[in-house]
Amino acid sequence: MKARAFSYRRAYTVDEALDAHASNGDDARFIAGGQSLVPALALRLQAPRILIDINHIEELRGVTREGEWLRIGALTRHCEMLTEPLIAEFAPLLRAAAPFVAHPAIRNRGTLGGSVALADPASEFPAMMLALDAEIEIAGASGRRRVRADEFFIDLFETAAAPGELVTAIFVPRFRCNQRICFDELARRRGDYALVGCGMQATCKDGLIEGIRIAFFSVGNVPTRARSAEAAVSGGRIDAERIAAAQAALDSDLAPPESDEVPPAMRLHLARVLLGRLLGRLGEVA
Ligand SMILES: Cc1cc2nc3c(=O)[nH]c(=O)nc-3n(C[C@H](O)[C@H](O)[C@H](O)COP(=O)(O)OP(=O)(O)OC[C@H]3O[C@@H](n4cnc5c(N)ncnc54)[C@H](O)[C@@H]3O)c2cc1C
Repeated sequence: MKARAFSYRRAYTVDEALDAHASNGDDARFIAGGQSLVPALALRLQAPRILIDINHIEELRGVTREGEWLRIGALTRHCEMLTEPLIAEFAPLLRAAAPFVAHPAIRNRGTLGGSVALADPASEFPAMMLALDAEIEIAGASGRRRVRADEFFIDLFETAAAPGELVTAIFVPRFRCNQRICFDELARRRGDYALVGCGMQATCKDGLIEGIRIAFFSVGNVPTRARSAEAAVSGGRIDAERIAAAQAALDSDLAPPESDEVPPAMRLHLARVLLGRLLGRLGEVA
């Protein structure tokens, strides 16, 4: 199939993009990397009358340190997660997740802002926003605001950014030397969307877990924090008993929906297996 005819507008500033969207309402879509939007157009799952290209907005580019935060511009491509030294140093969980996102051709174009704005519950980066306690900067008609990832993902493909608002940057608290990360996913083939995926970031002291954030993807309508599992491993050393307690706690953290592909009980089982592996690895480096 081919996309329905649409017109195209290139924006050079955030205000230009917001104005163009406001004057076209529901008929407009921002386009960033196009790696999700273009297939949706081609399949006619979406048929906007106008695309507003945000790729030439300079302000949306670049990775910079801002005090205790790392600012990652919305247009930062997935492939830059693998090459940008500031990401490796101050947001290593994003670096660890990036090779699992699709394939190189898609990573060359897809953007962090696009992935977070789309909020596909099977995507790696939105869930990593939760594990990192990141904040998402949104520009809209009433100005700019920053929303914690915990409040950003509302429902399936629904976020705190209203239609017509632009995700401008992601702010990640800078990684500290007493922190550790782990990431992995289970997929039928490398590059496929995961059956279940998980990333975590822990703060450690003398081998003890002082605090931890564990986030799953592909387990429901939204990326999901495993708060009971976090509680089960916080405050002590990671040993077999704590790992088993965290795995059992997933019963109350996750409620995978019915699906033809993977029954909920199997997805929960896979999540437990994955959590056990990741906590085992974390215990070795804590
Ligand atoms: C074959 C294939 C496999 C894939 N596999 C994976 C995978 O394993 N894991 C994964 O995470 N992703 C995967 N993707 C999706 C890919 O990562 C996308 O790039 C990403 O989800 C969206 O980023 P984008 O920049 O391409 O956004 P676009 O496609 O340009 O836009 C997506 C949506 O977000 C909106 N949008 C974009 N940027 C902004 C912004 N700054 N502010 C507000 N709204 C915005 C657009 O209007 C649109 O509605 C795959 C894609 C394909 C085609």
